[in-house]
Amino acid sequence: MEDPLIELSDVGRAYDDGPPALRKAALRVWPGEAVAVLGPSGSGKSTLLNLIAGLDRPGTGTVTVDGVRVDRLSEAAAARFRRTRIGMVFQFFNLLDDLTVTDNVTLPALLAGTARGAAHRRAAELLETLGIDRHARAHPGRLSGGERQRVAIARALMNRPPLILADEPTGALDTAAGEDVGRLLRELNSEGQTVVVVTHDLALARSCTHRTVRIADGRIVDGRVAGDVGAGVSR
Ligand code: ADP
Ligand code: MG
Repeated sequence: MEDPLIELSDVGRAYDDGPPALRKAALRVWPGEAVAVLGPSGSGKSTLLNLIAGLDRPGTGTVTVDGVRVDRLSEAAAARFRRTRIGMVFQFFNLLDDLTVTDNVTLPALLAGTARGAAHRRAAELLETLGIDRHARAHPGRLSGGERQRVAIARALMNRPPLILADEPTGALDTAAGEDVGRLLRELNSEGQTVVVVTHDLALARSCTHRTVRIADGRIVDGRVAGDVGAGVSR
């Protein structure tokens, strides 16, 4: 059987001045899955995603992504790891407003050493697929929230990472634009992209994922590690 793309085992993370943000968290995500991590504000969703991305380190436990022990990587190695293995999408887009849409999207490829021409061809292709090619030379500040999130999704896909992580990707969007982003994530997943979305938006979770994992007070309530068999994956 295939290995999980993400495996968290007994993960704990506490910040200095509070109760643990995550306790004994266990989670497996299989290649090709679309998983929603659903929980209220402050339940540990961003903490979980940041640990998977190697943006943060656990106090206890192990985090393995695509065969790599992310919790053991140095900051520099984690940055290199993210560049090719993980595409991230955030609530507030995190685009660089001084750069054009195209330059935002090509940046991860250029940082990874892709030739400029190839990066531009790939960016043009992605912008077209995502329906925002007419904004290629605009600056993100001129676009609507929904369009900006599409740019962020294009950037996340640029280096063809096996994993997309999205943190409240519809949190700053109106309902229609949010539904749009949900549909896009579902389409990506149906093409084989593994997606993990953390959100408190049940509608988003339902629209774009096969499996929902709940998190409350830093505890993953139904991560279904014991005996799971690639839940929901039929490819
Ligand atoms: P969510 O994304 O579900 O809203 P978070 O993972 O951001 O939750 O936060 C979980 C808990 O950890 C919260 O109690 C939050 O206040 C705390 N927390 C998150 N980040 C930090 C930090 N950098 N320093 C201190 N506490 C933090
Ligand atoms: Mg959060």
